Amino acid sequence: MERQKLHEQDKVLRRSNFDAVESNLTDEEVKLEASRCLHCKNARCVKGCPVNINIPEFVAKLKEGKVQEAGDIIRETSLLPSVCGRVCPQERQCEGNCILGIKGEALAIGALERYTGDNSDANKTEIVASGKKVAIVGSGCAGITAAADLRKAGHEVVVFEALHKLGGVLRYGIPPFRLPRKFLDREINALKEMGVEFHTNVVVGKSITLKQLQEDGFDAIFISSGAGLPKMLGIAGENLNGVYSANEFLTRVNLMGANDENKTTPLKIGEKVAVIGGGNVAMDAARTAVRVGAKEVYIVYRRTEKELPARLEEIRHAKEEGVIFKLLHSPYEIKGENGFVSSIDLEVMELGEPDESGRRRHVSTGKFVNMPINTVIVALGTGPNPIIQKSAISDGLEIETDKKGYIVVNSETNETSIPTVYAGGDVAPTGESNAINAMGAGKRAAKAINEMLAK
Ligand SMILES: Cc1cc2nc3c(=O)[nH]c(=O)nc-3n(C[C@H](O)[C@H](O)[C@H](O)COP(=O)(O)OP(=O)(O)OC[C@H]3O[C@@H](n4cnc5c(N)ncnc54)[C@H](O)[C@@H]3O)c2cc1C
Repeated sequence: MERQKLHEQDKVLRRSNFDAVESNLTDEEVKLEASRCLHCKNARCVKGCPVNINIPEFVAKLKEGKVQEAGDIIRETSLLPSVCGRVCPQERQCEGNCILGIKGEALAIGALERYTGDNSDANKTEIVASGKKVAIVGSGCAGITAAADLRKAGHEVVVFEALHKLGGVLRYGIPPFRLPRKFLDREINALKEMGVEFHTNVVVGKSITLKQLQEDGFDAIFISSGAGLPKMLGIAGENLNGVYSANEFLTRVNLMGANDENKTTPLKIGEKVAVIGGGNVAMDAARTAVRVGAKEVYIVYRRTEKELPARLEEIRHAKEEGVIFKLLHSPYEIKGENGFVSSIDLEVMELGEPDESGRRRHVSTGKFVNMPINTVIVALGTGPNPIIQKSAISDGLEIETDKKGYIVVNSETNETSIPTVYAGGDVAPTGESNAINAMGAGKRAAKAINEMLAK
């Protein structure tokens, strides 16, 4: 039987709206897809999932039409099935390991997971007060996952968020056409109903320090402040008007509603936009630029399509929406007129020998081209903001960080070098930086904190 496919919004229509590009399988299609599962004894899909969701078991429940029970099974390990079903790179994780994929098409695990998440509810657990208090810094995947597990254990849980809205990258980064906000709102509301307290517009390290939180009686702190500090190109012209980091650009649209003419946050998008980079963030920026009115949007990437790090699905969607891929080109200088970007010089590259990771290097050819452009969006990755770490050190708390500023943690407990302070997610990566790994870190830290507080 063929793999069931998600339903997609028309390729042309969707270029001018932020509605979900993909919609769920129907109830009937879900049962058909679930019946393709071989229920392998030694399930390779489970090993491929960073948090080891019991995939064969939840799929078996779907086959019987027991969606809530399927949801209960997923939520034993993952708090956010509606999110993970939409954003996880399943082709490299669970689905990439599915036996069906060897000779045909892998089971559509992501599609089944998102359907289950959307159509089932988190179990309501009775909360027995422990008398302990835990502070969480940041309300992204890692923070909200930890908050749920810590609250269930009876602790008073307070989340401090620097921005005015909750959800971290899921709110300000990943665009709503990939992750409709109602699913995120639902999870956050469930946490509020459980009694988790949220304080927005609080920058830990500035408005309040780790030391002050300890003095205020918090028995443990979990730092999940992400890695929101953009890496820039370091080339001439980068300070011109019209150059954005992808984070700034996406935040302006997703969080501040800059695309809505009634909002006051400005967004100057020219006719021609060059997005520098080839990952998921670059695809999100390019697809968002299309939707806010750019006429020509380019992805500028220094290797070939084979080396693009973005998910295949994102690349396909970007192409369908008219994004043009300028491969084997690397930015050299941004040129301007009257302070605004007017063009970009690109160096033509070719592929050389593979590097240590096996990926072929990009090698300069010495040739250059000039491309007229109005806006440049830099999507070359991010690093951790050092604000918390710096304030901790000036308060005499010895927080260990690595060369790049990430917080060093014990990979099993997520403990930092400061007693009772834990960290996880993008600020303290122990593997690939993605949503499911951040959730896994939140769960691990919550377990370790619960054990510590039970002593
Ligand atoms: C545009 C984009 C697209 C992505 N696409 C995917 C995808 O398709 N699939 C996938 O798996 N992953 C994707 N990722 C990566 C993934 O979203 C992250 O790895 C994950 O969300 C990290 O979660 P986190 O909780 O560690 O941090 P975040 O989600 O970054 O949350 C950190 C929160 O802490 C807050 N904060 C920061 N400093 C402070 C402070 N000093 N005080 C208080 N609060 C603070 C921030 O405002 C933020 O809300 C994407 C990332 C981006 C940027």
